[in-house]
Amino acid sequence: MSVLIVGSTALDSIKTPKAENPRLLGGSASHAALAASFFSPVRLVGVVGQDFPKRYLQLYKRRRIDLQALQILPGKTFHWSGEYEANMNRRRTLLTELGVFETFTPTLPNSHQKSPFVLLANIAPLLQHHVLNQMQRPKFVVADTMDLWLNIALPELLKLLKRLDAFVLNDSEAHQLTTEENVFAALKKIHKLGPRYVIIKKGSHGSILSGPRGFFLCPAYPLHQVVDPTGAGDSFVGGMMGYLATARGSIEDNLRRAMIYGSVVASFCCEGFGLQRTSRITRGQIGHRVKELERLARF
Ligand code: AMP
Repeated sequence: MSVLIVGSTALDSIKTPKAENPRLLGGSASHAALAASFFSPVRLVGVVGQDFPKRYLQLYKRRRIDLQALQILPGKTFHWSGEYEANMNRRRTLLTELGVFETFTPTLPNSHQKSPFVLLANIAPLLQHHVLNQMQRPKFVVADTMDLWLNIALPELLKLLKRLDAFVLNDSEAHQLTTEENVFAALKKIHKLGPRYVIIKKGSHGSILSGPRGFFLCPAYPLHQVVDPTGAGDSFVGGMMGYLATARGSIEDNLRRAMIYGSVVASFCCEGFGLQRTSRITRGQIGHRVKELERLARF
């Protein structure tokens, strides 16, 4: 089954203590789409400007990502720039230029409206609503967000939470949304806002699922060196949705395993700048790390 993914399709300029890389392929939807494409057919909904390099479009195509709903408009591609501290869990946004995203209001082709799995990757909540409004009885809808939208679009985000099956956010955002220091207390409060499943990401410390069957603690794959963690969260949720869409049986039965797959794709993402590493991996390499994680977490 296919996954429809809407989010940012961006050029990222990233600075770490060791290196600096301008205008990489980035954006929440790009990371999520590449991650999901290892498991299921992906339909990408986004917009880029005429400055968007052709080689990036080719990369999407090599991963067989459906680009029918990726618009190329006059103007500039969304540009984001960030800088990491020596502790790579901490970063600072240096610049966000929305460019062609400022007025982006996509109309989905009929085929896309019937996608059973929908990932509303990090982007303005109004755009997430706009896409969700066009979907015809989706099977499972997941959304991600970031601190910016909690700051400037909280009412729209709260409305969105009532329309989701699952909400994914990181621990600092969960704290900001609920004022709870304790993640388990935060999870309880977020359920009350709507979603049946809530996943809190904790960077290199893994993630926690809370759902009708209780909690699941998903480990992060242990990496000895992180090159660039940009997009790890998007790769996690993209990989998770891609796996879910392809797995047989009920979502509830598969969600935990799907998180493990997401966690593994996210680990590859951290090993290179932007999508450089993720774009070169194979399904076999993913399977290998999943087995290692299984061995590490069994007791
Ligand atoms: P993550 O590291 O998972 O938080 O995701 C980083 C990605 O989010 C980068 O590729 C950015 O292009 C993208 N991004 C940064 N700011 C925004 C924003 N305001 N809206 C949408 N995407 C963004």
